[in-house]
Amino acid sequence: MKRPTRDERHHACARKRRYRSSGDALDAALLAGVERERTAYHCPVCGQWHLATKPARRR
Ligand SMILES: [Zn+2]
Repeated sequence: MKRPTRDERHHACARKRRYRSSGDALDAALLAGVERERTAYHCPVCGQWHLATKPARRR
């Protein structure tokens, strides 16, 4: 797998909603009812937080 380029990361950032904190991001996921499937991460492009889809976990 190739690593994402800075440009690709920038595009991912531009497409995503930004949150001021991980708490804000997770609150939004909670409101949408998808908190189990989302994780918050700090974005190096905009310095804010985005939600990413969590890899599905098998039990
Ligand atoms: Zn960003």
